[in-house]
Amino acid sequence: MPKSRDITRQRNLHESRPVWADSPRISLRTQKTASHGDYDVIIVGAGISGALMAHALADGKRGVLVADRRRPVHGSTLASTAMIQHEIDVPLHKLAGMIGEEKARRAWQRSARAVEQLTRIVADIGISCGFERKATLFLAGDEYGHRALRTETDARHAAGIEADFLNAAALADRFSIDRSGAILSDISASANPAQMAAGILRAAAARGVEIASPLEITDIRATAQGVFLATADGRILSARHAVFCSGYEFLEAVADKDHAIISTWALATPPGTALPDWLKDCIVWEGADPYLYFRRTRDGRLIAGGEDEESEDAYASPKTLTRKAATIRRKVEALLGLRLPEPDHVWAAPFGTTRTGLPLIGCIPGLPNVFAVMGFGGNGITFSQIAAEIVSAQIAGHGDADADLFAFRSRQS
Ligand SMILES: Cc1cc2nc3c(=O)[nH]c(=O)nc-3n(C[C@H](O)[C@H](O)[C@H](O)COP(=O)(O)OP(=O)(O)OC[C@H]3O[C@@H](n4cnc5c(N)ncnc54)[C@H](O)[C@@H]3O)c2cc1C
Repeated sequence: MPKSRDITRQRNLHESRPVWADSPRISLRTQKTASHGDYDVIIVGAGISGALMAHALADGKRGVLVADRRRPVHGSTLASTAMIQHEIDVPLHKLAGMIGEEKARRAWQRSARAVEQLTRIVADIGISCGFERKATLFLAGDEYGHRALRTETDARHAAGIEADFLNAAALADRFSIDRSGAILSDISASANPAQMAAGILRAAAARGVEIASPLEITDIRATAQGVFLATADGRILSARHAVFCSGYEFLEAVADKDHAIISTWALATPPGTALPDWLKDCIVWEGADPYLYFRRTRDGRLIAGGEDEESEDAYASPKTLTRKAATIRRKVEALLGLRLPEPDHVWAAPFGTTRTGLPLIGCIPGLPNVFAVMGFGGNGITFSQIAAEIVSAQIAGHGDADADLFAFRSRQS
């Protein structure tokens, strides 16, 4: 087995310094390498996906190793704006047209349940990560106007998902926002994503999960009996199952025309920024292309992002970062009718999207016992929880009724 191949092409996962980089409690005690050669499960990646996967698999009996070539939670998870939404990027009524009504409803319902489950996990472990339940305000924009939002509200009601349509007058009255309509719903949350992932990893470690960093997995061989993984420190580890939670550094074997890496930008204003009171309880996004989204942290920062571009590397340009951050700031100011202070953090990052807005989760066709989790889309964190539930059920041998929604297609099909 060759040991030098970059099986998950390394990228710069964030340009400049995301706001969470200075957070307390994001360092973990790790080991330099695997303590033995054979595990029940090896998880590649110690971001939010790997953390939730480890949490779901750590039963005190399985031997579980989490390996990361970076420090834990220093990949895309550190760059996330962490709006923990039940709302999938592709609205329910539109997704129904793409994959059928029954499947679209199940995907949306599963997403809503995942936010509830994340809430329970954070509370049960007792993680101090600024986790707060929030309502979501989805504003009409140039992609989804008020008529589309009315249709969307009806579609959600038919699926048993709570949503209230606000017309322009109600929106102006409650939020002082001038748009033709919005959907207000109650199921989302927000958090410090690095503290959240670190807290979940710490709890998994307390239940016996090993976390090795920096430890790079450089090659893989999968058989019906088990999986062999080569490491950059020259070892071959074996496991009954391997789970790639490697984020936007995904396995070449799962590259697909239906998903893409694009560029995105974000900013944070200093703590104590003067913001409307309602932003304490609400996260905001819009049905526009490119879209804008924003939220308030507990200490009063405004976190905003968007201005996505369909380019794998536009995020790397410092000039573009300055320009995009200025645009995001100006758009928030215009929408909220206020002046924002100079952001104290601006950052840019690659970001994964899929045509349907759904993640890709499951066993990789042609690689027995190897799973991958690609929590792509604006709700990567919510999707990471769905992935942890599905993959842990599959590893336990009892499957998951929604696995078909997110499964990798065989390249032949
Ligand atoms: C700017 C931005 C804003 C976002 N906003 C939101 C949001 O508001 N809400 C939301 O839900 N999601 C959001 N997302 C998406 C969300 O952050 C991601 O889906 C999530 O962080 C991905 O987590 P992960 O654990 O899969 O990946 P990562 O955090 O990148 O972790 C993967 C890890 O795998 C490791 N790795 C890769 N290959 C190997 C290898 N061969 N060997 C060893 N280790 C390896 C990497 O070093 C990395 O640490 C945003 C993303 C960005 C960039």
